[in-house]
Amino acid sequence: MKTSRPIRAYIAPDAILHNYRLARRHAPGAKAWAVIKADAYGHGQWRAVQALRHEADGFALLECENALALRAAGITQPILLLEGIFSSQEARAVVEHRLTTVIHCHEQLEMLLGAGPLKGPVSIYLKLNTGMNRLGFTAPALAKAWEILRPLAQVNVTLMTHFAEADGERGVDWQLERFRQMAGDWRGGCSLANSAAILRHPTAHGDWVRPGIMLYGASPFAELSAAELGLQPAMALESQIIGVQTLTQGERVGYGGTFTADKSMRVGIVACGYADGYPRHAPTGTPIAVMGRRTRTLGRVSMDMLACDLSDIPAAGIAAPVTLWGNNVPADEVAAAAGTIAYELFCALASRVPVEVREI
Ligand SMILES: *Cc1c(COP(=O)(O)O)cnc(C)c1O
Repeated sequence: MKTSRPIRAYIAPDAILHNYRLARRHAPGAKAWAVIKADAYGHGQWRAVQALRHEADGFALLECENALALRAAGITQPILLLEGIFSSQEARAVVEHRLTTVIHCHEQLEMLLGAGPLKGPVSIYLKLNTGMNRLGFTAPALAKAWEILRPLAQVNVTLMTHFAEADGERGVDWQLERFRQMAGDWRGGCSLANSAAILRHPTAHGDWVRPGIMLYGASPFAELSAAELGLQPAMALESQIIGVQTLTQGERVGYGGTFTADKSMRVGIVACGYADGYPRHAPTGTPIAVMGRRTRTLGRVSMDMLACDLSDIPAAGIAAPVTLWGNNVPADEVAAAAGTIAYELFCALASRVPVEVREI
């Protein structure tokens, strides 16, 4: 039996498909990995796979066991392991199940080639560190890797890198320049762009783009909304009013009493707190909608509840519907108010929140 506490997360597979198609239209010359790591950014790996199984050029994720589960479910498209392999056992699985793996360091290359003679062709994404300084080969390390790889006809190489500031002022050109220097006269495949680069840097797409956050209907840019980009929200977090208080001037709300009423006002208590995945750092004034009308949160977010201003929504009483994020209230706005990004809100959706598939 599903809990009858009124909080629900709704996931819209059609929106994920719409957003994937939008990514493709922005990168018409490229194929697109659907990035479904972190349980499809909290939307459910299988819901995303189901939404995209007939259209995605490939799926990108982290864990080898999840990749194998996709194969077992009949997914025949390429599957990319974004952090590569963690053991020689995984190296063997990569070859056997035709997975594509990132190789970002010499040790991973040894692991792959040390796992036994390569029985079939294997596709690798050789990751170059062009300035993110997280994972990837530097120029000298790359030269060494090429010495090992060049004689191996059965290894099919794509060069990849990851942009650190595709959404920001510095952009991608400085990293593209380093990439070109490192790649030299490379004529094979390249994979460069995350969502921000897909949407903003058409010269930095390469052969395979890697859209993540845009698939889930959030904007990679602080100054440009998802709606302006033509993206559709794929997750809504909804609940209900479970309590109503009428405050007189000077009364406070919630832990620490951080909000003080400056006049008499109606306050709604919503069945949603940080244990549901709502950000505790969301301050007074974070957008929220009640009966479809936007209003603001009040005071601190508790574990299971938060408060909102019903002064201008007199019809809202117990059981009035509340949108924490979704259509009227972009997750990007809630995230910005709480000093974070929608990526984190989506990934933090708690397992106690029942999830249903529905249009948003
Ligand atoms: C997560 C990830 C992406 C997707 O990034 P978005 O900003 O969500 O589009 C692309 N490439 C790599 C290597 C990643 O790890």
